[in-house]
Amino acid sequence: MLKIVSFTLGPVQTNAYLVADSETKEAVVIDPAWDGHIILAEAQKRGWRIGHLWYTHAHFDHIGGAGAIADALNPLPLVALHPNDHVLWRAGGGGALFGFDIDPGPEPTIDFVHGMKLRLGSVDFEVRFTPGHTTGHCILYVASSDVCFCGDLIFAGSVGRTDLPGGNWDALVKSIQEQIYTLPDNTRLLSGHGPETTVDEEKLNNPFVSGS
Ligand SMILES: [Zn+2]
Ligand SMILES: [Zn+2]
Repeated sequence: MLKIVSFTLGPVQTNAYLVADSETKEAVVIDPAWDGHIILAEAQKRGWRIGHLWYTHAHFDHIGGAGAIADALNPLPLVALHPNDHVLWRAGGGGALFGFDIDPGPEPTIDFVHGMKLRLGSVDFEVRFTPGHTTGHCILYVASSDVCFCGDLIFAGSVGRTDLPGGNWDALVKSIQEQIYTLPDNTRLLSGHGPETTVDEEKLNNPFVSGS
């Protein structure tokens, strides 16, 4: 069964998600935002083994905890990211622009591809390519649990900014309409910042991207 522990960490209050199959105790961290030791301690307390780090995108505030997590694990966790965000990853997630110098942790070796399925224990995650906030942004959808980890694509009542390098408003709108608003209405949206919401709620009330 899929278990999700969420954290809000770091200088811009980024959500990190520690996700596990509670039977096999295999775990991944989706966006290890900041303060990796906090995420790691929670996994250890629960007896979960972190084998992977999955990044919705490579902004510094979503990967800032990766180094501390990886330093404590042997073998190293495998890192997955869309190739379009590798340049951003190499540039420290753009943190220099905001005065942050992060340890980006292990190099990404798994390339996200639209439609790709990732397995955690008995749970399938579907990768959906959703450029707009960055050129390589992806979301992770778990149909069996009606949940979608949507990074900085969409927030409760808001959307990801498109004024940073690689941002593109038209692409963001298209990604939301084609990859979020096509999911079942009751799908929980777990975003990179702020509280969770649902597809239905955003289709009806999101002031930036209409669902009709
Ligand atoms: Zn971002
Ligand atoms: Zn963010």
